[in-house]
Amino acid sequence: MLDLAKYTKELSNHLLASSNILLICHINPDGDAIGSQLALYQYLISLGKNVEMLSPNYLQEFLKWMDGVDKINIFIRDRKAGREIVKKADLIIMLDFNQSNRLGEAEDAVLSSAAKKIVIDHHLNYKPFADLLISDTSKCSTSELLHIIITELNKGFFSNKHYAESIYVGIVTDTGNFEHGSFTSQTFRIIAELLEEGIEKNRIFNLIFNNFTSDRMRLKGYALNEKMVVLPDKKTAYISLSKQELEKFNYRKGDSEGFVNMPLSINGINFSAFFVEKDGFVKLSFRSKGSFAVNEFSEKYFSGGGHRNAAGGEHFDTLDNTLSYFLEALEKEAGKINDLM
Ligand code: 5GP
Ligand code: MN
Repeated sequence: MLDLAKYTKELSNHLLASSNILLICHINPDGDAIGSQLALYQYLISLGKNVEMLSPNYLQEFLKWMDGVDKINIFIRDRKAGREIVKKADLIIMLDFNQSNRLGEAEDAVLSSAAKKIVIDHHLNYKPFADLLISDTSKCSTSELLHIIITELNKGFFSNKHYAESIYVGIVTDTGNFEHGSFTSQTFRIIAELLEEGIEKNRIFNLIFNNFTSDRMRLKGYALNEKMVVLPDKKTAYISLSKQELEKFNYRKGDSEGFVNMPLSINGINFSAFFVEKDGFVKLSFRSKGSFAVNEFSEKYFSGGGHRNAAGGEHFDTLDNTLSYFLEALEKEAGKINDLM
C-alpha cells in the first residue's frame, strides 16, 4: 500500500520548488495515459503553474475529442521543439509507465535533462530512472491513483468538469468499461464523485467505444474470422495483422485497440496474443485470464512489461519470424497457462 501522506508531501515539495512543469505520457498513449496527463494539467494550471504536455508519438483517434489534447506536443512531429520543451522544464512528471524506454524517441532528452523527475504509475517491475516514484500496483489505473493524490493535495475533491472527465476516461479505458482490471469498491466511490461533478457518462462512452469507422468494424470481423489461430491444447489463441492487411482496411491509429481481448471470451482459452506489423518491428499485446503472468512472459521474450493479465512488448524482426519465435516461447511456457486465479 502506498504511504499517501508521505508521497503527497514529497510531490507537494517538488511542485513548490518548480515553476516550469512538464507532463509526459508513454509512447502509443492509451486513455489512462492521456486521461491522467490532462487531469494533472487541469489541477496544476489551477494552481497557477506553467505547464507543458508532451507525448512521444501521435494520439489514437478515439482520444482526440478530449478537452486539452490540442495542447499536447507530439515529440515526433517536431523533435527540435520537443527537446526545447524538455530543456525548459525544471520538473518532469511522467504518467502511466515505469520504464524509460516507454518514452520512445524522447527518452534521451528526458534522461539527460537536469530537471527533477517524478513517475506516477500503477505498473509492476519499476526500472529506476526518476527521483521519485509514486506507484500503487493495486490501482486499476494511473488516473485513479492520481485522483487519490490530488484529492489529498487539494484537501478535498478538486471540482473541475474537464478534470473529472479526464479521470473518468482513464478509469473506463483501463478497465474496458469495468470489464477487467483491478477496480475496487473505492473505484466506484470515485466514479460516484465524478458523476456528481456532472460528467456525461453516456456521451463519453459513445465517444470512446462507439466512435469507429465501418472499415474498423470489418477489420475486426476479418481478424476474428480469417486470422485468429486457436491452440486449445495450449489454452492459447492469437491474431496477427500485417501492414498490407491493415492498409486494405484503411487502418487508422487505434483501430485495433481491444482486439487482443476478444479471444479470451472463448471457453478454455486463457492466453491471448495480438501481433501488429510496424516499420521494422512487430508490436505485441498479451492478455490472460487466471494466474499466467503475461508481464513476465513479455519481459522474458519481448523486452516488454505491464500487468499480470495485460502486457505488451516489441520484437525487431519480420512478422513471420516473430510468430515463429512466439510459438517457440509458447512451447516452453504453455505449462504455466491455467485458469487458477
Ligand atoms: P496494450 O496491449 O493495451 O498496448 O498494453 C497493455 C499493458 O502493457 C499496458 O499496461 C501497457 O502499459 C503495457 N505495455 C504495452 N506495451 C508495452 C511495452 O512495449 N513495454 C512495456 N514495458 N509495457 C508495455
Ligand atoms: Mn494505465
